[in-house]
Amino acid sequence: MNVIRFTDLCAQGKVAGQRVFIRADLNVPQDDTGRITEDTRVRASVPCIQLALDAGAAVMVTSHLGRPTEGAFKPEDSLAPVAERLSELLGREVRLVADWVDGVEVQPGQVVLLENCRVNKGEKKNDETLAKKMAALCDIYVNDAFGTAHRAEATTYGIAQFAKIASAGPLLAAEIDAITKALAQPARPLVAIVAGSKVSTKLTILKSLAEKVDQLIVGGGIANTFMLAAGLSIGKSLAEPDLLDQATAVIEAMRARGAAVPIPVDVVTAKTFAADAPATVKAADAVAEDDLILDIGPKTAELLAAQLREAGTIVWNGPVGVFEFEAFSHGTEAIARAIADSKAFSIAGGGDTLAAIAKYGIEKDVGYISTGGGAFLEILEGKTLPAFEILTKRAAG
Ligand code: ADP
Ligand code: MG
Repeated sequence: MNVIRFTDLCAQGKVAGQRVFIRADLNVPQDDTGRITEDTRVRASVPCIQLALDAGAAVMVTSHLGRPTEGAFKPEDSLAPVAERLSELLGREVRLVADWVDGVEVQPGQVVLLENCRVNKGEKKNDETLAKKMAALCDIYVNDAFGTAHRAEATTYGIAQFAKIASAGPLLAAEIDAITKALAQPARPLVAIVAGSKVSTKLTILKSLAEKVDQLIVGGGIANTFMLAAGLSIGKSLAEPDLLDQATAVIEAMRARGAAVPIPVDVVTAKTFAADAPATVKAADAVAEDDLILDIGPKTAELLAAQLREAGTIVWNGPVGVFEFEAFSHGTEAIARAIADSKAFSIAGGGDTLAAIAKYGIEKDVGYISTGGGAFLEILEGKTLPAFEILTKRAAG
């Protein structure tokens, strides 16, 4: 994707003395007292801010936090805890500025944090007047917030339309690069794993990937519906029989391209949905009326692992079983380890997928872990994210 990169602007010496407005994603989880319980996003936002400071810019940073009501600031909406953490990480004072839309005082070499941008009236609706005012605050706009790249809001879209220069920050650029590498010019074979609980939530993703990938591995509750479509009995397992036609269409679309949707050959079943339910491994065609399929079986896991070892590119979204329960976690663990061991460039995303990656400690062995849940899934759906779209447009002139 062709965008102006902030790192390039810095390297070209175009940032010194300029007013730089960074839209970061500092939306951290907090406890009841407002204390930050997990600061990954703050740490991930530091490189861009540091880059701007080192380049001699006057730096303004903003983000949303939580779900405030526009036009009605409440103390719990404040970015104050973030300002404090950011100060520690940057080793310098980070002044927090409220009511900043009509003007911000900041000198080159300084950084200020602008209060929760979702408190501003018109932010969510991408109001043009608000966007123009914010654009007037800066010479260079930097979007470094991938997590909100699928939303067209005043700080993610409108400001990029009107700012003198609109660029992608290093975090956003890394996401663009990883996704482009994985989906636009992938090393083949391109293997996607789409798993998790329901076909309905991922039908668009399945359809979109069915046009691109060489193997579409389905798992979890999604695989159950595909097993039904393949004529297998799945007992009481989670499935969506009304989506059988859609599953069949995906299988047909893949077959027409000479690609495949591997159907499990064995499964792990239980009689109840519980962590302590006894687990039984069965052939895929031997599932009883009262069985619940809660994981792929060891043979299936080994077959899939072999395909992952041969892959050139792997895209992973969704655990292939109820990995929260130990007895039904082995399929997901096997997939995770196979991805980690594969030479393929791998990219993974999704809330539960990230939890599985953390559980098996394979963070370092995945080519790219996407930080944006919703944004990542929308890219898999084949959508052009608004934040990318406007940055591309601005780069074209
Ligand atoms: P992600 O958040 O990574 O996109 P999903 O939310 O779609 O993934 O799916 C994850 C959930 O799917 C997990 O909570 C897991 O327990 C559940 N799941 C996986 N396999 C099954 C299955 N066979 N039956 C019921 N639930 C399943
Ligand atoms: Mg989930």
